Amino acid sequence: MSIETPARTGTTTAPMLAVKDLVVRYGRGRKAAASPAAVDGVSFDIAPGETVGLVGESGSGKSTIGKAILGLQKVSGGSIAYQGTDITAAGPGQRRALGGELRAVFQDPNSSLNPRNTVGASLMEPLKLRGAAAAEARSKAEDMLERVGLPRDAVDRYPSQFSGGQRQRISVARALICDPKLVVCDEAVSALDLSTQAQVLNLLADLRDERGLSYLFIAHDIAVVRFLAERVVVLYRGQVMENGPADEVTGNPRHPFTQALVAASPVPRPAEQAARREARESLGIRTGAAATPGPGGCPFRLRCPLATDLCRDERPALRRVGGADVACHYA
Ligand code: ADP
Ligand code: MG
Repeated sequence: MSIETPARTGTTTAPMLAVKDLVVRYGRGRKAAASPAAVDGVSFDIAPGETVGLVGESGSGKSTIGKAILGLQKVSGGSIAYQGTDITAAGPGQRRALGGELRAVFQDPNSSLNPRNTVGASLMEPLKLRGAAAAEARSKAEDMLERVGLPRDAVDRYPSQFSGGQRQRISVARALICDPKLVVCDEAVSALDLSTQAQVLNLLADLRDERGLSYLFIAHDIAVVRFLAERVVVLYRGQVMENGPADEVTGNPRHPFTQALVAASPVPRPAEQAARREARESLGIRTGAAATPGPGGCPFRLRCPLATDLCRDERPALRRVGGADVACHYA
């Protein structure tokens, strides 16, 4: 296996992935037109070897973006380019050709591991689809299991015989067995307890560094995203609120919603948790279901302590504030 560290010069390398003005509406016809878009004009790039974190509350459109990239969800507008090739409306043939390069790890291992198949069968399937012989596929599966910290004889066992953390390692093995270039991790560690979460995150980081992988790392917890991501994109109601280097976005958040997310992120130490709670309350961010804004304007305005009439009338464009791009009239 050749292990090359890609150049991270950004401007000189074509992005691994370019998402531009992406819009996704669920439903059909008039129903779709009437409902707010689940993803509403989202743009971001992922450079070769870069990890981009996508963070936001439940329902903000994170998984929808992941599915659109993977070709599992139809796109209503905008474009998705993979290594310079438009894949927005890629047909089954083009998707099959991409299938080994663009892989996914989901929260629920059952979605990638058939509980009725042995672990080996699940791991060998993508290899066999690409023409590998059975013996070769089996030895690759054993190697990959070993690499993710499991015994080689796990090939002959079933997913139910493993713990949640081990099953997630198996999902990682399945995603990486074909040497992908880009892996979409959607809440890949969210169901795990804290120490298991840390182990799987470390594994993902090691594999990335060994193989020069790009990740789109999706999670609702900004602390988890912070661990792996070099760049963080913050989503609210299908729109990007902030996009910038991870240390800027998490260490010095400019958008009021990002500030709320950082303050809401759980921390293991009670004293720090209490300080966070105080900080959160002092932000004056309103919570609750009443915060459903009408169309237009800033989607966060009903919860935002800075909001004025301008925020109702005009959707804030992303603009550079310090080291990050922020969609706020007042940040
Ligand atoms: P997240 O992953 O950030 O929790 P999702 O992308 O799953 O958010 O969902 C974004 C929005 O789209 C939510 O309002 C959700 O209810 C809606 N949605 C998601 N999947 C479907 C679907 N299959 N049909 C209709 N609406 C959906
Ligand atoms: Mg989701």
